[in-house]
Amino acid sequence: MLQYVDLHLHSTASDGTDAPGALPALAERAGLCAIALTDHDTTVGHEACAAACERIGIRFVPGIELSAERGQPRGSMHILGYFIDPTDPTLAGVIEEVSGARRERAPQIVEKLNDLRVAITLEEVEAQAGGAFIGRPHIAEVLRQKGYVKSIKDAFTRYLGQNAPAYVRKDNLPTERAIEAIHAAGGLAVLAHPVQLRSEDEQDLQQTVQRLVDQGLDGLEIHHADHTAAQVQQYRQLAHRLDLLTTGGSDYHGLAKTIALGSQRVPHEHLDQLDQRLQRAAQVSKRSR
Ligand code: AMP
Ligand code: ZN
Ligand code: FE
Ligand code: FE
Repeated sequence: MLQYVDLHLHSTASDGTDAPGALPALAERAGLCAIALTDHDTTVGHEACAAACERIGIRFVPGIELSAERGQPRGSMHILGYFIDPTDPTLAGVIEEVSGARRERAPQIVEKLNDLRVAITLEEVEAQAGGAFIGRPHIAEVLRQKGYVKSIKDAFTRYLGQNAPAYVRKDNLPTERAIEAIHAAGGLAVLAHPVQLRSEDEQDLQQTVQRLVDQGLDGLEIHHADHTAAQVQQYRQLAHRLDLLTTGGSDYHGLAKTIALGSQRVPHEHLDQLDQRLQRAAQVSKRSR
């Protein structure tokens, strides 16, 4: 029987709407045998999610999704880390740095919205985030609740997205530092949803991914809700050419997005590949010691 996994999930620890401890039950219902929690720039949900996975009997993979610098005004660069040790000091330092950037950006977005005669406050946004780092989806939800927009998507189109009037650039981590921190924490670094790089053409995409490979990138996320079937094929071939592992997941955010947990039907083999790569790395480091 084919077994499926979901290696890209968000919880209330970042901008998802399900508690980290509630995800495993949804995964079980979707028939999955393993999940990775990959909240943006934080690992605080790991403990609760791991405990619930253990109770239910599915495998937990400790993950993270770091926002890194795209290097151009268009598109975004997200690097997934798998099997990371959340107590690693290098990773903890990087998380502290990026959360500082989020703390600076949130009041600037609220100010821009206020200038546009949208009456929301930072306190309302903080309450929506419920103690998590503030992400734009939290602000989008406040806009929706107060009737300024019809949906989260609408909030991004009209106010918060890259070309919208209340967009504020966030200082992001250089990609080499994101990859380094994931490796320092014993993990594997995977480029998330390559479609969101918004590369100009195939050559531009290849150059961008090659640069990440030179910095130590281990894999490419090929299965993702934003990828067409043709793109999945394109990214699979690119990964093969560059000797990268391939992964996938739903990028489930609960009510903050419309995509269902487990919906990408990612075969278990992708997780096996990550396991094998880590085991090989452990053997090499044992031999060199
Ligand atoms: P932030 O990390 O705070 O800059 O927010 C980025 C997050 O907002 C992404 O990871 C997505 O989860 C979400 N997002 C970005 N664009 C959209 C959109 N057009 N509709 C809904 N959610 C979006
Ligand atoms: Zn998100
Ligand atoms: Fe992402
Ligand atoms: Fe994500």
